[in-house]
Amino acid sequence: MDDFLFAPAERVSLPILGAPLRFPVRRVFCVGQNYAAHAREMGADPARRPPFFFSKPADALVPLGGEIPYPSRTADLHHEVELVVALGHGGAELDPETAQGLIVGWAVGVDLTRRDIQAEAKAAGRPWDAAKGFDFSAPIGPLTLARDLGHPSGDIRLKVNGETRQAGHLSDMIWSPAEVVAQASTLWRLAPGDLIFTGTPAGVGPLQRGDRVSAEIDGLAPLGFTIL
Ligand code: MN
Repeated sequence: MDDFLFAPAERVSLPILGAPLRFPVRRVFCVGQNYAAHAREMGADPARRPPFFFSKPADALVPLGGEIPYPSRTADLHHEVELVVALGHGGAELDPETAQGLIVGWAVGVDLTRRDIQAEAKAAGRPWDAAKGFDFSAPIGPLTLARDLGHPSGDIRLKVNGETRQAGHLSDMIWSPAEVVAQASTLWRLAPGDLIFTGTPAGVGPLQRGDRVSAEIDGLAPLGFTIL
């Protein structure tokens, strides 16, 4: 085989709770507006239409959080706490029951968003990449294997400097994780290593330099990070 022109980037991976293995990340898909109250706060109608998707590059992930630099070209960085599903198997054109079987683990993630750039993109009918897929835009906790947890079913919340900003319940999702995976599988042939951020509850808002963020979902390891 030919050598590479330069050393290829290291593969992004997530630690797994209680296992001496890492989850190798392939792609990162995200769902927009999957909780009715959040759809309304973004000025959208939360009717049960098929979910829409965008993506982030795998190297936007920040495994285990830590320190996140305030991004360039924005004055309105927002937090969105989300349940993340991790796929251990692939497939296309799946029904929800089959899609459920692809899910190998769960994590807490935050979909960081340059809200001002997103608003400009929406108004101009332009893509969201610069609003959503920037460097350090996806802090994520360790994976909990589905075989250890089953299906997470409790509360989801995000605190900034100890104060609750987002609080919801996973049962408030318009589309369940299995339905989200099934819908995604009609758009892409899903593969082991794919992650899907499943949407955020109401209460999204701005972060400032120095803010300490804690993101929690019942049954999963919490995620913490600080904005520098
Ligand atoms: Mn989101």
